[in-house]
Amino acid sequence: MLPYYLAYGASEYFKLKFFGYERPFGCSLAPTIQCNLNCKQCYETENRNSGKKELSLEEMGALAEKLSKQGIKHCTMTDGEPLISRESIEKCETIIGHFWMNYIVTNGTKEIPDFPVFYILSLDGPPKVHDNLRGDGVFQQLEKNVKKSPTDNIYGLCTLNSLNHEHISQTISTAEDLGLKGIMFNWYNPASDDDSLWVNYDTRNKDINLLLDLIEQKPEFIYNTKFELDMLRNPEWTKSCPSYFVPSYDAFGDLKEPCVFGERAFCEKCGCHVFPALMESIAKGRKTAQFRMVLDYMDAQWTNSPGILPGLISPFLSKE
Ligand code: SF4
Ligand code: SF4
Repeated sequence: MLPYYLAYGASEYFKLKFFGYERPFGCSLAPTIQCNLNCKQCYETENRNSGKKELSLEEMGALAEKLSKQGIKHCTMTDGEPLISRESIEKCETIIGHFWMNYIVTNGTKEIPDFPVFYILSLDGPPKVHDNLRGDGVFQQLEKNVKKSPTDNIYGLCTLNSLNHEHISQTISTAEDLGLKGIMFNWYNPASDDDSLWVNYDTRNKDINLLLDLIEQKPEFIYNTKFELDMLRNPEWTKSCPSYFVPSYDAFGDLKEPCVFGERAFCEKCGCHVFPALMESIAKGRKTAQFRMVLDYMDAQWTNSPGILPGLISPFLSKE
């Protein structure tokens, strides 16, 4: 399995780099749009009460199978809270069965199942800052569920906005205290031109400078890279955003254009780090958050298995 995976990764990389091969390699699916929170920064709130019927378990399985047959190997489960209900958890299980690698993005307020996935935990800051954006007592629930989680494959994702961007260092300490494996940062995508949660580019650049200093101190814990952060300093990259790499489907089975943000996409002010990271993967071959997480996963799942040398993959985790 390991040589096959590496060979597959190498062939995809060369096709992308040298032949401009544009087939999607990942997708995002929404097991549900429902959520138990009502965060100030949510991009899906207005779609929650559309009255449309979500895909059934069978329909979600059919969509995952179709995407898998197209050659897609990776899925991110996101939008609402994927762990909110038994039905949604069953959809997650079905989706997991169709892809080689899966992320579940969770707000951490529900028990974390022992699935072979990466959990991406939304963390908006230290407890008070997190609760200010997500609701009273939410951090406490998250902390309880993370501490008793059956898996330690949990990474923090902090979306910086005008209410939390001054707490970057404390957010990192909070993630460490929670025992997360690492943390990534990106910036809030505004809903409109005058959205007060958006952090303007001048301020974002100051955040980036601070983050780069912090990455020097904690290169193994902060998963953003200099390449990706430098891209996010201005909107230039958004003119050629490779969003076709990751088609996103909503909970009703409809393709969202141009990306997971759907109609709310505001490219000129976008703060998403995923596509800059993918652009780096293509330009440099490795060193991105996604790449390092894949290696973490391979290390945990395969090289610690009997018969395989422990730590075979770990040396590649260095950022240099
Ligand atoms: S947890 Fe996520 S999906 Fe739920 S309201 Fe908050 S941002 Fe939206
Ligand atoms: S809003 Fe979506 S399509 Fe636009 S730059 Fe950001 S990720 Fe790309």
